[in-house]
Order: sequence, then structure tokens, then C-alpha cells
Amino acid sequence: MTRLFVSDLHLETPESLQFQAFSRLLDRESRRVDEIFLLGDLCEVWIGDDDDSPLARSLIEILAAASARTRLYAMAGNRDFLFGKSFETSTGCRLLPDPFRLENGTLLSHGDAFCTDDLDYQKLRGVLRSPAWQQDVLRRPLQERRAMAATMRTQSKATNANKPENIMDVSTAELSRVMAEHEASVLIHGHTHRPGIHLHPWGRRYVLGAWARCGWAIKEDLSGGLSLRCFPLASRCEI
Ligand code: MN
Repeated sequence: MTRLFVSDLHLETPESLQFQAFSRLLDRESRRVDEIFLLGDLCEVWIGDDDDSPLARSLIEILAAASARTRLYAMAGNRDFLFGKSFETSTGCRLLPDPFRLENGTLLSHGDAFCTDDLDYQKLRGVLRSPAWQQDVLRRPLQERRAMAATMRTQSKATNANKPENIMDVSTAELSRVMAEHEASVLIHGHTHRPGIHLHPWGRRYVLGAWARCGWAIKEDLSGGLSLRCFPLASRCEI
């Protein structure tokens, strides 16, 4: 089994460097690996599966093309938590719960649930992930949802700018608790935009990076080995 993991692409327009590079990566890797996992914040915002924006339409197109060739999985992040059933049907991409444990003992997560020191964020996360709030929002017109998303993004930027750095990182106590609960020894997550590989008493933690000038991905080879890769988006180089 070979796999590819990516997260935090924060896609905004089909013309962007990030979208173009992701499209090439999907096209190439869907011919090579058995499974591709999108671990959250694929889009900067997802206002619902009925979104008719150029990004939503183009994204569905490239995901559907890739899922015709390989198995594709997506997990919601804190930006695209409104992915729903229609997204699954139109893309062929299966939505996974967070966290999700692979059969080999690797736990997958977007990562924001581990940031338990940020109490305000966890409170907000609880609201945004509740079915009642989501159903209420999805009933509103697209235009209103777009305006809501823009306001929320501005508020989030302002709030985070005043937070100490360590509060927005994962809590080691929460990591230990969740890893023990799932009897897992390897964790792959994103969200913090602090790519790296960390050793913990319970095992290894691989953190994906956000796509800016460079893209980030983790590849799992046939022997189960994981490698964290970084590649420039502009040069069309292969990972
Ligand atoms: Mn995130």
C-alpha cells in the first residue's frame, strides 16, 4: 500500500499557484499511489456543497478526475468543515471523521482538536461543528454565507494576532491522551503550519506544512516508511 497525505492548501482561486500545483500533484500521484488523504483546510473557506464559485467547480472537477484513478479521502479542517454528502458524491472523495485510525496504527487528524490550551478556539470549534449551527447556516443564501465567512476570517485573524504562539500549538497532554485512546504510535496532522517530525513517549508525530511558496506532502512507501517532503510550487518539480 502506498499513500500520499497533504493538508492546509488553503485554496482560494483556480488560477493560484497553489491550485495549479495541487492539480498537477493530484494528476500525477493518482496514477501512482493507492490512496490520497486530504487532511483539512484544503480550501480557505467552503460555504457549502452548493457553492457555485469558480474554485468550488474547479476543485470538484480535479478531485473527481483523481478519484476515478485512486482512492481519495478528505477530512474537514477548521476552514472547510461544511463539506457534506454532495461533495462526496460529486468528487468521489470519502469524508473521514477526525481523528481516523489507519489499519497500520497511524492516526490521522487535521490537528486543531489537539490545540486544547486555546480554550476560546475550542469553544468556537464546538459551535461551528454542531449539526444545529451547520444546518442553520446552510439554509441561508450563498451570498449571505460568503459575507459570514469573510467576517469570521477577519475576526479569526485579529484574535490570533493577539495570542501567544504556544497556545496555538498542540497540547502534549492531549496528544498522549488521544494516542493512548486509539492505541496508535504514529500521528499525521496539519493545522499548526509548523511542519516537522517530533519524537514523543508514545511514538512519532509528522506535521504537514501549509502551502505557500512551497508545498508539503507526506509519502508512505510500500514498506510503510513515511517521508515528509517540501517542494517549490513554481518549478513544477516532482516530489
Ligand atoms: Mn487548520
